[in-house]
Amino acid sequence: MEHYKHILLATDFSDCSTEIANKAKQMAIANNAQLSIVHVVDNLPITDATYGPIIPYDGDLSVQLMDVAKERLAKISSEMDIAENRQWLELGSPKFEIVRIADENDVDLIVVGSHGRHGFALLLGSTANGVLHHAHCDVLAVRIKDD
Ligand code: AMP
Repeated sequence: MEHYKHILLATDFSDCSTEIANKAKQMAIANNAQLSIVHVVDNLPITDATYGPIIPYDGDLSVQLMDVAKERLAKISSEMDIAENRQWLELGSPKFEIVRIADENDVDLIVVGSHGRHGFALLLGSTANGVLHHAHCDVLAVRIKDD
C-alpha cells in the first residue's frame, strides 16, 4: 500500500474535534506524513427554518469570527505540534474551501469527522458528505458515535 505523504485535518472545534485530531495525528505518524490543519469560517448567514435569515451577512461579524477562530486554530495546532505554515484559516463554504486547500497543497488524505456541529440526523454530516463528493484525494471520515 502506498503511504500518504500529506494529511489535512479539517476541524470545526466541536466537542469531538480532539478525537478526530488524534486520529489524524496517528495516521500522520504511521505514514510518516506531513500534517496540516484547516478551519473554515462559514460565510453564510445564520438561518432559522421558520423565519429565514436572522443574521444577515455582515463583514464585521466575519472579521470577529476569524479572530476567534485564529486563536482556537493556534491552540489546537500548538497542542498537535503543527507549524504555522501548515495552518489554514479560510472564509467561505467549508466543503469547498477544505477541498481547495487540499488541491492546492498536494494533500493525499483529508481527515474529517463523520459529524460535527451539524447534528446526527444524517448518516454523514453535510460538510463530511460535501468533502467526500468533491475531494480529488482519499477522505477519512472518523466515525463519531451518537451517545
Ligand atoms: P458536519 O458534516 O458539518 O457535521 O461536520 C463533519 C466534519 O467536517 C467535522 O467533524 C469537521 O471535521 C469537518 N468540518 C465541519 N465544518 C468545518 C469547518 N467549518 N471547518 C473545517 N472543518 C469542518
